[in-house]
Formats: sequence, structure tokens, C-alpha cells
Amino acid sequence: MDPKNIVDKDASFFGQPGGLQTLFFTEMWERMSYYGMRALLVLFMTATLQEGGIALTVASATAIYGLYTGAVYFMGLPGGWIADRLLGGQKATWYGGIIIMLGHIVLAIPSEAGFFIGMILVVLGTGLLKPNITAMVGQLYGPNDDRRDGGYTLYYMGINIGSIIGYFVTGYLQTNVGYHWGFGAAAVGMALGLIQYRLTLPKLKGVGAEPPKPLGPNGMKRSWMLIWALLAGLAVVTYLALNDVIIINPTVVAGNVAIIFTIIFFAYYLSIFLFGKLTRNEMKRLGALFLVCIASTCFWAGFEQAGSSFNLFARDLTDRMVGDFEIPTTWFQSLNSIFLVALSPFFAALWINLSKRMINPSYGFKSALGLIIMATGFIVMFFASQAAASGLKVAPYWLVAVYFIHTVGELCLSPVALSAVSKLSPKRMAGQLMGVFVLTYAMGNVIAGLLAGGLDPENPSAMPELYWTIFVFGVSVGAVVFVLALFTRKWEKLAEDDDHPGAVIDANEPVGKP
Ligand code: GLN
Repeated sequence: MDPKNIVDKDASFFGQPGGLQTLFFTEMWERMSYYGMRALLVLFMTATLQEGGIALTVASATAIYGLYTGAVYFMGLPGGWIADRLLGGQKATWYGGIIIMLGHIVLAIPSEAGFFIGMILVVLGTGLLKPNITAMVGQLYGPNDDRRDGGYTLYYMGINIGSIIGYFVTGYLQTNVGYHWGFGAAAVGMALGLIQYRLTLPKLKGVGAEPPKPLGPNGMKRSWMLIWALLAGLAVVTYLALNDVIIINPTVVAGNVAIIFTIIFFAYYLSIFLFGKLTRNEMKRLGALFLVCIASTCFWAGFEQAGSSFNLFARDLTDRMVGDFEIPTTWFQSLNSIFLVALSPFFAALWINLSKRMINPSYGFKSALGLIIMATGFIVMFFASQAAASGLKVAPYWLVAVYFIHTVGELCLSPVALSAVSKLSPKRMAGQLMGVFVLTYAMGNVIAGLLAGGLDPENPSAMPELYWTIFVFGVSVGAVVFVLALFTRKWEKLAEDDDHPGAVIDANEPVGKP
């Protein structure tokens, strides 16, 4: 065991290792910038030139939005690999943050070219930062440290505090001074995150300081050359697209991307099995993780209706008047983060209490539960959209209830799944597997966009059926995951390394067999 990965005596941040403070606040500011900017994105793209926007059609804007959110998470795959083999998590997070900040600075300059270049920079930077900062959280704990789930829940709370700040600050600036001020605020947020990261880096006590499985000097050189060549290719394509030499149709591209992401996810996972030189325990642990990934993908495909169809439902079909005050549409989305922050302490305490009583539900079980709870939120949407189909605007409580249910589901699945990735991945592949996991967000986001395409508020009578289908699908997959989790439960408990004696906890497994 790498001693750098065990900082288990330290409990200086709410009972968690002090390094969590560094990661918590960095990710908080990064998410402030991500969600703050994301909240303005579709509004900016569809606003007229006079309103300060770029006057795209709704179809193009939502397709670009889906591609952007999908790409942000997709890039976690190379980002995780770069940390494992070339840079280490600390540097990947640092450079990722700088690239994100530059992206927001470019976005703050009013120009259409700047807008697309800024988004590309945010995508590249987030790919470097997001999986690696998340993987480093897990490396703060020793293999048998019970605080891991609670630590991820706390970290997840930081994500959502950042989101709340983002929604309110950029939303305020956009309505009062203009879109580009909102984008500028996102750059300031990321800068604050970088400053505190730099200042509190020693708290990480060496976690992520080096790549866990560095390539040799030649491999490194070749990899960097390839990376620079790919970036140069991207720059050329961007230049040609901005000058209309090549025409990119975002709607067509978005349609194919979900399929490509899914193929890449399966191919990558399979290649880790085939070429990762895994021990038998590692294979079983990754088998258990695969189940969590399936639950996660289906979860986000439903949950991410928040930014699309729920958003439109809030705007067009919900009675947002409270007396003389009209609730702004974007406020509904921030309900998720507000509920999350409010409920997080209860969930952190719940997992700790359960583990003290030796009732430690498996990762698979918690994921299935999260997925099923999320899916039941769609029963509420079924009734809400039925009411809306009658022609009257519905009360805001419907969406409030849905967001509450979805947040409870999120707390059962999402932070727990992050903990699962960090616990079940071989250390030498920690970044890569977090990258593969973040790909489940990418798939979920793109599928969510495709589903939302069938949820047109102009035609609310079609909504109940689709919402009901999402409910049935979610509960069915959740039930299957639940049953399979009964089998993978004991795989989750296998020790990380079956190459050294006594490592196998499962008594039925012979020790040290390849
Ligand atoms: N809110 C979580 C985060 O930002 C999950 C995002 C997602 O779309 N999966 O980390």
C-alpha cells in the first residue's frame, strides 16, 4: 500500500482529513463557475442580438447545450488518463483550473468566436480537473476507513454550495448588467478556487503529487506529442468552423454522440478488463463497479431533465406568480442544490450511523435505491403534466416536490457512487476509472437531451406518457440493479490486492490465484 494514500489519522475538517478542505473549496468554486455559466447558456444562445445574445434557434441552442455538457464530462476520460500516466492528480487539477478560468475570461469578451472558443477551453479544463480532483478525495482515506462515504457526501455538499452561488450570482449579473458579466463572474469564481488550492495544497500531504503509474520517458514524449497534435487539430477544425469553411450541424452531431459515448464507455471498460493486467479480485471489484455505472447512467438520463424539460415546464406550464411576484424560471433548478445542501448532513450521519451498527448497505444497493427514488419523481411529473395538459398552469409545488424527490435519490446514488469508484478501482487506475465513471454523466446528459426532445411544452398532452415511460424504465432498471447487487455485494468487499497473502476477505476465494 502506498503510504501517501493513507492520511487516516487526520480529522481536521469536520472529522474528515484536512486535505478534504482543499478539494472541497476548489471544487466548490469550480462548480460555481460551471453551473453559473451553464445556467445562462441556453438563454444567451437564444436571446436576440439586441438582447445581447447570439440569436440561435431553440433546436440548435439545446443541441449545443447537450453537446457541451456531454463533452465536459466526456473529456474526463483522457483527463483521468493524463493524471494517471503523465501528470498526477494535483497538477492535472491545477492546469485544468487554469484552462477553465481562461475559458471563462474568453467567454466574458463579447464576440461569437470568443463564445465557442471559451466553451472549448472550459470543456478541456474540466476534463482535466473534474475526475482527478474527485479521485484525490478518495485517496485521502485508507482502504478500511469508514469515513469515505461521509467524506464524499461532504464534498458533494461543496459542489452544491458552489452551484447555488453560481446560479444566483451569474443570474443576478445577467439580468442587471448583461450576459458577459455573468461569464466574467464565473472566471472570478474559478480564480478564487485556484488561489485557495495553491495556498492549501500542503494539506493534501502528497496525495496526487505524482502520477501513480507514469509512462517511461519515451512514452511520455510520444503522448505529449500526440496530445499537442490533437489540440492543433481541434484548433484547425474550430477555425474552419468559425469561418464557415466546414458547417457543423449541432442537432445531427448531438444525435450521434450518445451512441458514440456509449460505445466508447463499453469499449474502454472492456479494454481495462482485457489489457489492464487485473488480478481476479480487481476484476470482481470492477464488475461490481460496472453495475454502479449502469445505475448512474440511467439516473442522470432522468435527473438531467432539470436543465431541459423541467426548465421549460417551469417557464411555460407552471403558475409562477406568488401575489405580485413572479418566481424566475431558473430558481426552480437551484432548488436541487438547496435541498441537497440541506439534506447532506442527514445523509452523511445516516451512512456513518449505519456503518457503526455494521449495517452497511452495498454500493449496488444504494445506487438501485437512488435510481428507484429518482424514477418515482416521474410519477409526480406524470400527474403534473396531466394537469397541465388540461390547459391550466399548474401550481409550483409540483416541481418543488419533484426536485425534492430527485435530490433524495441523488444523495443515495451520486456521492455514494463516487465513493464506490474510489474504493473499487485499482490505485494505479484511479484517475482513469473516475474518468470512465464521469462518462456515465456524459451519456446520461446526452440521453436526457434526446428524451427532452419529445417533451415539447407547446404540446403538453404528449408529456404524461413520456414521463410515465421514464418512471417505468427507471424503476425496472433499478429493480434489476437491486437483484444483481445481491451478487456483487461480496465482490465489493474483496480486498484491493489479491497478490499478497491474507488479502482475500472472501473465504471462498483461494488466496493469491491469478
Ligand atoms: N452535480 C454533480 C456535479 O456537478 C453531478 C453532475 C452530473 O451531471 N452528473 O458533480
